[in-house]
Amino acid sequence: MQHPLPYLAHYAENLQSEIQKLLDQNKLGSWLRHRYPTTHKIAKDNDLRNYVMSLKNHYLKQSQPISKIKYDSEIHIVNHALGLHSYVSRVQGKKLKNKNEIRVSSLFKNTPEAFLNMIVVHELAHLREKEHNKAFYKLCQYMLPDYHQIEFDVRVYLTELEHSGSVFTAC
Ligand SMILES: [Zn+2]
Repeated sequence: MQHPLPYLAHYAENLQSEIQKLLDQNKLGSWLRHRYPTTHKIAKDNDLRNYVMSLKNHYLKQSQPISKIKYDSEIHIVNHALGLHSYVSRVQGKKLKNKNEIRVSSLFKNTPEAFLNMIVVHELAHLREKEHNKAFYKLCQYMLPDYHQIEFDVRVYLTELEHSGSVFTAC
């Protein structure tokens, strides 16, 4: 059986029941919109690229280059809750090429900037750390001190999105 709150399964029981209660009362959407009243305007792949590169240049200048940065409407959020891991090995001709790509689910096009920031920081941290280990989260917090709180809020957003189909209206 699927967990009632699949995106929040690893959080404390009291947090989960708080969110479940808001969900049951149809108040989770307004809870999110109250916490995050505005959405970002980073709508095109090119805007996303500039956004990612300015964060990378600021925090991870020495890290490997990124060959492709784009929004991807194919990313199925249930299986890859937080974006696709960014390391792709591909055979080109006879050579195995390792390329860093960052694909952000299109579900983050119309969200508060904090959510996009968190997803991008997560993917940038994978340039250095492939696993979700201590060093990985330390790097995330270095780029975004509030990382853990925002990851929780992103998971709440995904929960509400599945529940009601939309959370933030374009404005
Ligand atoms: Zn990851």
